[in-house]
Amino acid sequence: MKESSEVLARKYRPSNFDELIGQETIAQTLSLALDSNRLSHAYLFSGLRGSGKTSTARIFAKALICEEGMSHHPCGVCSNCVMALEGRHMDIIEMDGASSRKIDDIRDLVEQTKYKPAVARYKIFIIDEVHMLTKEAFNALLKTLEEPPEYVKFILATTDPLKLPATILSRTQHFRFKSIATNKVIDHLAHILNLEGIAYENDALEILARSGGGSLRDTLTLLDQAIIYSKNHVDVRTVTDMLGLVDPKFIGELFNAVFAKDYAALVEYTKVLEDYESEMVVDELIAYLKDKMYNHDALFSTLVLDRFFRILSDSKYLFSINADGSFVLSMIFFKMIEALRIREIDQMIESFQKDVQRPEITTPTPAKIKIQTATPEIASAVQADSPIETKTEEEKEVTTQAVEEVPPAPEPIVEPVVAPIIQEDPALKLFHELIAKISDRNYELGECFTKNITFISYEESVLTWESCADEDCKKLLKHGYSVIKQLVREIFSFETKIKGIACTKEPQNLPENEPQETYIPEETFVSTPEFTQTNIEQPAPQPTAITQPEMQGPQSTTMIEDAEMGGNASCVTNCNDAAPLEELNGTDITQEPLIQKAIEMFEAKKITVQSKI
Ligand SMILES: [Zn+2]
Repeated sequence: MKESSEVLARKYRPSNFDELIGQETIAQTLSLALDSNRLSHAYLFSGLRGSGKTSTARIFAKALICEEGMSHHPCGVCSNCVMALEGRHMDIIEMDGASSRKIDDIRDLVEQTKYKPAVARYKIFIIDEVHMLTKEAFNALLKTLEEPPEYVKFILATTDPLKLPATILSRTQHFRFKSIATNKVIDHLAHILNLEGIAYENDALEILARSGGGSLRDTLTLLDQAIIYSKNHVDVRTVTDMLGLVDPKFIGELFNAVFAKDYAALVEYTKVLEDYESEMVVDELIAYLKDKMYNHDALFSTLVLDRFFRILSDSKYLFSINADGSFVLSMIFFKMIEALRIREIDQMIESFQKDVQRPEITTPTPAKIKIQTATPEIASAVQADSPIETKTEEEKEVTTQAVEEVPPAPEPIVEPVVAPIIQEDPALKLFHELIAKISDRNYELGECFTKNITFISYEESVLTWESCADEDCKKLLKHGYSVIKQLVREIFSFETKIKGIACTKEPQNLPENEPQETYIPEETFVSTPEFTQTNIEQPAPQPTAITQPEMQGPQSTTMIEDAEMGGNASCVTNCNDAAPLEELNGTDITQEPLIQKAIEMFEAKKITVQSKI
C-alpha cells in the first residue's frame, strides 16, 4: 500500500496521455499535434470540473519541454520531465484566474513573456479558471495572446467558456472536455481500489460514480471519504449511508409495493424516507427507473416508465413551491399506482373488439359443439343479396354465415364455431381475470402467459396450470413470477399455491372435469377477431359458402331478411330454434378439414373450443 496520507485524486493524477480517463479524442488530437509538430500558440480547455483539463494541460506542458524531444510520450526521466511532474519547473508558470484576476496580475504575466525560457524549449503559461479575469485583464492579455514570442505557449482552462470574450475564443484552439462516462469512472475506481488493496462492491462504485456526476476528481474525493467511512470495505450500505442516499434494494421493495397496489406498505416506506432529503429520493427513483429501462425489465414497460417519469418530473414542481417532502413522496407513489390502472390503448381496442364480436358466436352445450347447418336455399339467398356496408357488419355477416352454412358438397364440411364464448366455471373466470391483470401490468408478459399457460384446475387453494413456454417466454415468466404470484394471491386467495405441470404433447390430455375446453398442446389458437378478420380478407376454402368481401351496399335489408328467415344473422339467443343442429364432440372438431385448413392458414398456436354460456 502506498503512502495513504495523499488523497487519491492527487496520487492517481494521470502523468501521460494514456492515463487520461474518458478524454480519448482530445488526448489523440494533442498527441498528433505534438508528434507532427503542428502546434498552436494558445489552447483553451473547457469542460466540467474534474474532467481532466488541468491534468491534460500539465501532461501537454511536460510533453512540450521533454529533453528527449517533443512527442506524445515524454520520457519522464529527464530533468525537465521530473521537475514538470513535481510541479516545480521554472518554465511552466501556473496561474489561477480566480485569485489573480486583476490587470496588474496580467501585466506581470505579459512582462514574463518577454524573457526566454530558462532551461526548456518553451515557456508555458497555464491559466486556470480563465473566465474569472476582469475585462481589463482580458484586454491586457489580448495582444500577447494573439502574437506571443515563438517560445511562449498559453494553455487556458475554464469551466465556463461562455463567459470568455469572443476575442479570446478566436485566438485559441478550443478543446471541449466532456463529462466522463460512468462506466469509465467505475473502471478507474476499481483499478485504484485494486492497487490500494481495498475490498469493494461494484454497485457501491456505481453509486459513487453517479454521485460524482461525471467529474473524476469529485468521485475520487467521495471515494476517499468512503474508504475511511467504510473502514476499508467499500460496500453499498456504507456508501448510501455516507451520501445520505436510499439503498437501491429499498427502492426495489418500494416499486414492488407500487405494483402490488399496497397502500399500507407505501405509507410505511414513506415514513422511512422521512429521514432522507426528499428531492434526493426522487433523483434516486429516477436513477432506479433508468437502470430498469436500460436492462429491459419486463415489469417496467415503456409505457409504465413514461408515466412514472412524468409523475417524478411533475413532483419537482411541488418541491419548488416548498411542499412537504413526505407528502410529495406519498403523492408520487399513489399516482404511480393510479398510472398502472390505465390500460394500454391497444389492449383496450382489442378487448373492445372482443366485446363487440363475441355475441355473434355460440356453442350450445358443454362438451358438445353444435354445428348449425342451413339449407342451401338459405345459404344462397343470403349470398345472393348480402351487400355489406361497414366493416363490422361485414364481419358479422361472414361470421354468421360461417356458423350457419354447410354447402351441399359431396364431402360435407361443417363450419365449426372456432371462437368461443366461455362457459365460465368460477375458477376459470378468475383465471381469465388473472390473465387480464397480467397483461395490464405488462403487455409482453401477458402475451407470453396467455399463449403458453393453460388453466387446468383450482382445487383446495392449489391452482394448477400447464406451461408450454419456449425459452424466451420462460425467461420472461421467471422474471415476472413474483408479480404473477402476487396477482394470483390477489385474485384467487392469499393461501393459493401455484402448481405448474410440464407441457404435455398429447391432444387429449384434458382432465375430465374440464369438459368444455379442448386443449391442443401444439397450442393452436384462433381468436375471434383474427378468425373473422382473415375470413374477410381471404375467402374460406369453400367459396360458395362464404360471402365475398368485396360486396358493398345496404346491409339493413339482409339483416331484416335474416331475421325473418329465422334470425340467423342475430344468432345470439335463438340460434337453436332457428336452424337444425348437429352435435360434435369438442375434440373431434379439431380434426375437421376446415379447421385443419384454418390452423394451417393462420399458423395457429392454440385452439380453444368452448361452449356457449
Ligand atoms: Zn523527458
